[in-house]
Formats: sequence, C-alpha cells, structure tokens
Amino acid sequence: MTNYGLVIDQERCIGCHACAISCKQENNVPMGQFWNRVLTEGGDKMDTPSGGYPTDGGNGSLDMQYQPTACQHCENAPCVKVCPVNATYTRDDGIVEIDYEKCIGCRYCMAACPYNARVFNWDEPEHMPEEGTGDVPARPQGVVEKCTFCSHRVDEGLDPACVVNCPADARIFGDLDDEASTVSKYINQYETHQLLEDRGTKPKTYYISGEMSPGRPQTSDKLESELDDVQVWSDGTDDVPADSGSGGSAGSSTGGIHSVDDDAVGDAVPHVPAVDAGGDD
Ligand code: SF4
Ligand code: SF4
Repeated sequence: MTNYGLVIDQERCIGCHACAISCKQENNVPMGQFWNRVLTEGGDKMDTPSGGYPTDGGNGSLDMQYQPTACQHCENAPCVKVCPVNATYTRDDGIVEIDYEKCIGCRYCMAACPYNARVFNWDEPEHMPEEGTGDVPARPQGVVEKCTFCSHRVDEGLDPACVVNCPADARIFGDLDDEASTVSKYINQYETHQLLEDRGTKPKTYYISGEMSPGRPQTSDKLESELDDVQVWSDGTDDVPADSGSGGSAGSSTGGIHSVDDDAVGDAVPHVPAVDAGGDD
C-alpha cells in the first residue's frame, strides 16, 4: 500500500526558504501563517548563527544549520486521536488531512501536536494574492490548517510544491512502502533521524544531518541515477572511491553508512515529474 513520506537532507539545505514560500503560494496560506518553516539551529532567531564572532583577529565559531519543519504526517498522529469530530483524519496513503467543514476550531489538535505544525485562523484569512497557484480551497476563519503534503498535487502524480521548488534538491518525496522509491533508498542507505522520536508519533518525515554521508550525491540534477551508481563502503575504514563515476561526493570518509541490499536498489523512480507532466510550477 502506498505510504507517503519525505526525506529532508539538511546537508544540502541552504536555508533559502523557497520551500516555505512556494508552500504559501501553492496552498494560498493566509498572511501571517506558515505551514512550512525553516528554523535555524543554534541562533536565537530565524537566520541567526550560533557560536561566537571572531575577535582580535582570532577564529570565530559561527555556525548556521537549518531545520526545515512542517507537519510530519505522523503514523501514530496525536492530532487525529484527539479531534472530537473526526475532522482530522489519515488518508489511505498516510497523508494526515483536515476536513475544514467538520472542524469546530476547538484546537485540541494544536495542543496535541508536538511539532507545532498547525495554525489557527483567528481572523478572517487575508490572502495576497487572492488565489494560490494550486487548486486548494481557501480555509475559513475559525479552523485549524496545516501542510497536506500537497495532496491535491500528489493525487495528480506530482510532487509537493516544496519538493519541486527546492533549488538544492534537499527534499525528496515518495512512497515509503516501495523499496525502489528514492525516499526508501535514502532511508535504507543513509543515517536518518526523525524529530522527537521519543514521543512515539512515528513521523514520516526523515532528516539527514551532519557530515555529508560518503557516497551521497551532492549535486542533484541526476539524483536518482547517481544514487543507483553510488559505490558503497561499509564503515569508513575502506578506501573511499576517488571517483564514483557519477559526480557523487568523493571527499573524505567520515562516519559509516548503512550497507545496501543490492536487491533494494533497483531502477530508480524519478521523484520530480518531467516538465511536460503538467502541473503548475
Ligand atoms: S506533525 Fe502534528 S499535525 Fe502533523 S500529523 Fe503529527 S501530530 Fe498531527
Ligand atoms: S480544531 Fe478542528 S481539527 Fe482540530 S481537534 Fe478541533 S475540530 Fe478537530
């Protein structure tokens, strides 16, 4: 059965906020609201580095890491459990959605969500421009709304807008139950983590962070084919291939990567549809 999920490669993320902005455009998210946000790790505010500035000609320790976040489409979603009118529900393909006609605005789901993924329309929503780029009905005042993995696009075989519009290809969307999908390959092949795993919500957004895993393609225009060509080594003790022959990372080997079951790395399934596949991006 199809089970949609997302991988966000934080080593590729450049903090440009294109995902957040394209989400607003596509889903006509009201002014002052975001379904999709790019937080900064370490600094006090958005886009502020952690560490210290260089002083007296010395070395500083400034560092800026980005943490994109949105609804994690949890498998064990607390928001679904607490909704008293079943307005929040999980689709057969794993996407957590809200029926805005049923929502009574009690905000139990906001309180239950540990990821702060939901926003409430306190006022009459203001849209600028009035129409979004996607075919998504506007949400009224008095309901909670959130990321839908762009289910209207997914239903047409397209990737979410944030995935298509990420200039660094840091976002990879697909079917977690399909071993041949690029998301499954990333999760099988590289070290990933989920946010607040100890809460038991089983989020379906996976993150890759830290040093670029050996063999992971840094450039992404041939992402899927490169992933198939990647030469894998077990624990960083083997020689790193000087050239994978695919444009993948050939830098120093730090940290191990998961061994790969060759059977699980079959023909890649492109996660970005061809330009002539339709859509509005
Ligand atoms: S991230 Fe929050 S809103 Fe999204 S499914 Fe999980 S609990 Fe629900
Ligand atoms: S605010 Fe709406 S979606 Fe959230 S729990 Fe209440 S009725 Fe359900």
